[in-house]
Amino acid sequence: MHTPNYWNSTPLDQLSRDEWELLCDGCGKCCLHKLQDDETDEVFYTRVSCRLLNNKSGRCGDYENRFSTVPDCMDVASMTDREMKWLPNTCAYRLRSESKDLPEWHPLISGHPSSVFKDPTSIRGRVVSETDVRESDLQDYIIRWIEA
Ligand code: SF4
Repeated sequence: MHTPNYWNSTPLDQLSRDEWELLCDGCGKCCLHKLQDDETDEVFYTRVSCRLLNNKSGRCGDYENRFSTVPDCMDVASMTDREMKWLPNTCAYRLRSESKDLPEWHPLISGHPSSVFKDPTSIRGRVVSETDVRESDLQDYIIRWIEA
């Protein structure tokens, strides 16, 4: 049992494991490669995904073992507020860390997991796997429809 609207009332560091996991909207955007400008620190998202991302569902293909399978996978649970700036500006964890409301399409609001695809910046069908892209070509895949 969860407190009604717990995502608005409970600080991130006080969520149960279950509540924490439910807060993830399943957008998959954090599974995209990012580049950072050395001079300005600006973060750019690319449309190149981790090889474990299921492009259709937006879910990790090996969630339980992701940190051993992909050592540089971002551990959102251990991020500081400052590090959360790397996350997309629609990410539920980032929004809550900034005391902002979840969007209407968030599954906790809509009651439907598939409502995440109503996000105009949904990645479904718009990204390619890192297995098909050379690392040296990443900058050619920078996108503007996802912002950190
Ligand atoms: S960006 Fe945030 S809400 Fe989206 S999948 Fe990653 S952790 Fe979950």
